[in-house]
Amino acid sequence: MMMNSKSLYQEVILDHNRKPRNYGVLDNPSHHAVGHNPLCGDRLDIALKIENDQISHIAFHGESCAICKASASMMTAAVKGKTRPDAETLIQEFRDMATGKLDPEQPNHLGRLTVFSGIRDLPTRVKCAILPWHTLHAALNALTSVSTESDDDPVQATSVSD
Ligand code: ZN
Repeated sequence: MMMNSKSLYQEVILDHNRKPRNYGVLDNPSHHAVGHNPLCGDRLDIALKIENDQISHIAFHGESCAICKASASMMTAAVKGKTRPDAETLIQEFRDMATGKLDPEQPNHLGRLTVFSGIRDLPTRVKCAILPWHTLHAALNALTSVSTESDDDPVQATSVSD
């Protein structure tokens, strides 16, 4: 079983790096945030449109490692079409799974995202996998940027430049 989940994980990471879903820039987003993970150098820009209380469009781009990119790709696919509360539920569950607080065998809404459950045994990569979710949370809550290295102050004011 461990071998299986490990090879599935690697397959998913490769697939989403070859063909990232919802990769690009969104015109006229209603919500937008930039996330940084200084430990790895990941930088993600996530933009979305909420219409009728649903996430109708979402896109991401940036410079990130394979784990971060795959997590972002799967996240955008998972939350597209969801309401904001449903998206927040997924954010919470993913964070809890990645930090070992949620057992993926327990009932949850994560679906295929549980391929990331092994990340909790790789402390240096947890932040890579969580960064897209932190950034989505910031975007939904009208924060413009977040950093994984500002635990007591989740909103780190960093200038955004292209
Ligand atoms: Zn990374």
